[in-house]
Amino acid sequence: MHIHIFKLSIPFITDPPSDFLDQWSVQLYVKIEANDTVGWGETGVFGSGIIGAYSSILEDLVIPFLERFRGESPAETETVLEKVMLTAGNCGVVTGAISSIEMGLWDIKAKRLGTSLGDLLGGKIRERVPIYASFPRYRSQKDIVSTALKARERGFRMIKLHQPPSTALDALKEVREKVGYDLKVALDMNAPFDLHSAKKFVDGASKYEVEWIEEPIWPTDDYNSLEKLCEYSSVPIAAGENEYTINGFKRLLGTGISYVQPDIAKIGGVSKFLRILDLASSYSVKVAPHDRPDSSPLSLAYALQISSARSEISTIEYTISDFPHDLFRNLPEVFNGYATVPKGNGIGIEIIEDALKKYSYIQKLRLLAFSDLENRLKEKEQI
Ligand SMILES: [Mg+2]
Repeated sequence: MHIHIFKLSIPFITDPPSDFLDQWSVQLYVKIEANDTVGWGETGVFGSGIIGAYSSILEDLVIPFLERFRGESPAETETVLEKVMLTAGNCGVVTGAISSIEMGLWDIKAKRLGTSLGDLLGGKIRERVPIYASFPRYRSQKDIVSTALKARERGFRMIKLHQPPSTALDALKEVREKVGYDLKVALDMNAPFDLHSAKKFVDGASKYEVEWIEEPIWPTDDYNSLEKLCEYSSVPIAAGENEYTINGFKRLLGTGISYVQPDIAKIGGVSKFLRILDLASSYSVKVAPHDRPDSSPLSLAYALQISSARSEISTIEYTISDFPHDLFRNLPEVFNGYATVPKGNGIGIEIIEDALKKYSYIQKLRLLAFSDLENRLKEKEQI
């Protein structure tokens, strides 16, 4: 078995330009070659783009481990790797690094059986899956409104805004006044509030028919405050993109959230994702898988394949920012608020390996400050 790591900076293309542009464009892809079969997986690089932390786990432990203990199933691999990294923690960088390997092993498994991943996971119940248009952060209300209108023209039925707490409600009001109410709107807050501030925010948002408010509470594991907010809020609450463990998801699902949002490239891959679907079903909570602003068709292909076989997934985050189209073949088609499940063996999409060379990783400081923290950082910036 040979494993190749690709550290990438695939451009993040937005029109109008996004405030997120400088912080993203970091991808870590993994290619696994096992005899004649190739599987691809992705590690979601978060934490302001700390790619070396993830790649060193792959290079120092995961790749030597797989070379020595070949023949493990994807689920066993994920479990064993989590256990041998116990003292490094069971979330964040650790599970993110495992994700790409575990995903790639599933891709290989399906290809060897001559089937799609969706069919391997129980058989397709749908050929296309609802998606919603996830906006990056924009600089002006005008840009938000024009993008909302374009999204509606493209057939999207729902959008999600990523504006900071200081302007999110103004942006929402503007969208309702200029675009109307036939487009569902969710607000992603990226965890800025204590309970008191979150209640005030919910009060302000509730009159605008909000589909959900996402990650309102800081810190993200303050389950007590989240539970109190869910009891209080007339607007559905969503969370889960910063949850990693099965017990963490149980606690989160117990708070009363309406949507849970696991990220397959963060939590450890397909096997844990399937366990979270089972859990969400037992709590009757809808699943809306997370994706990030610098769109990656690789992670999306996994989410679509799993969604094709599992009805718990109600909608998938679909980033409207574009990416170079010389990197992939057989991408999902997007129309009327749906994405098609790529046909073919494994995950369906193909990665054009030669084209990846054009998008080698660019190292730079990428401080990802989602909330109004970015304004404070700008004030302190020396250059
Ligand atoms: Mg989010």
